[in-house]
Amino acid sequence: MADNTDAPPLRPKRRRVERFPLGEASRAFKKRFFADASVAEWTDWRWQLRNRIRSLAQLERIFVLSEDEREAVSRRTGSLPVGITPYYAALMDREDPSDALRRTHIPVGQEYLRTPGEADDPLGEDHDSAVPGLVHRYPDRVLFLSTGFCSTYCRYCTRSRMVGEAGGDYQFSVSQWDRALAYIEANPQIRDVLLSGGDPLTIADDKLDYLLGRLRAIKHVEFIRLGTKVPTVLPMRITKSLTKMLRKHHPLWISIHVTHPAELTPEVTEAYARLADAGIPLGSQTVLLKGINDSVDTMKRMMHGLLMRRVKPYYLYQCDPITGSAHFRTPVEKGIEIIQGLRGHTTGYAVPSFVIDAPGGGGKIPLLPEYLVGRDGDDVLLRNFEGNIYRYPDPDGNFGAGKGPGTAS
Ligand SMILES: *Cc1c(COP(=O)(O)O)cnc(C)c1O
Repeated sequence: MADNTDAPPLRPKRRRVERFPLGEASRAFKKRFFADASVAEWTDWRWQLRNRIRSLAQLERIFVLSEDEREAVSRRTGSLPVGITPYYAALMDREDPSDALRRTHIPVGQEYLRTPGEADDPLGEDHDSAVPGLVHRYPDRVLFLSTGFCSTYCRYCTRSRMVGEAGGDYQFSVSQWDRALAYIEANPQIRDVLLSGGDPLTIADDKLDYLLGRLRAIKHVEFIRLGTKVPTVLPMRITKSLTKMLRKHHPLWISIHVTHPAELTPEVTEAYARLADAGIPLGSQTVLLKGINDSVDTMKRMMHGLLMRRVKPYYLYQCDPITGSAHFRTPVEKGIEIIQGLRGHTTGYAVPSFVIDAPGGGGKIPLLPEYLVGRDGDDVLLRNFEGNIYRYPDPDGNFGAGKGPGTAS
């Protein structure tokens, strides 16, 4: 496996053409910028990967770049390349640099600003690596970094140190998989394996089948899930042959990276439906991003859109303090305000957990609006979603003592 370079993991093979829907945005964009491509090519995930927008010249053919964007693209030096699938580019505003999806993928000068508290590996994942590419932080589960390849590169990536063109300490190979598998095999307390990367759904079907099969062969591994952005940015990857392969490895869950309601296109609807129809429970994970999705209204529309596509909102993450991320990070209150704006105001299933992945390797720490007001004698005082105070009799407890207005009536 030679996907430590920024190239698709396998050379394209001849395959039976599968049908995949073509949305309005795709149709108009394809006609204008990829007129020579057939619909069969456009809806082929390998064509999408081969035709990713990666250079300044390719960006300028499509976008009216600001001076800031142009300069940021030219001076890029780190491992995190620019990479946007044509499918996903079609959803971005070609003229407006403040467009939400565009900001998540086209670099700006602020990416080169280092501010206090930032680090290349803020979560201390390298420190918690049992073997290269395997992070063992929690007692019963591991994070398995299966590849360094992604179909698109998010500018706020937590693993920008190791994805894309990273070399050196971050290589991904079959021998690395073998070492990770051997570690899992030797540690019977591991009952849950989270395959991430890079993006595991960029791995070719046969290799992913092999990896899932190896994991399934380990008796104590009960729960396997994939963390992926592919269904959102490269929906045509969710082929019938992929879902047929995945369903052999049940119980298999998938956490899908979603950022904005504008991503929920007809193509994405089809991709999520194929996964759900394959019996795969779907959860979402979203990074809270300043000026991109940091409002109750945007989040509510997105969570509703996810529910309608059979995806349970799972995590809303405070943006990790990765180097050069200050322009993406909101104050912590913003996330709490969003949860407060959802809980009680809409379907409970639509409310994700807001978490901070603690810098230094503390793991995910949930944050909630303050619903416990205090205590009054035998009663706990609670605030509901409308701000009204309610009492709950708790004569044997001490919960809420020393908090808030203990003498409120
Ligand atoms: C997020 C994460 C997990 C999975 O955590 P859950 O709360 O079970 O979703 C496991 N290991 C690492 C290192 C993680 O960052």
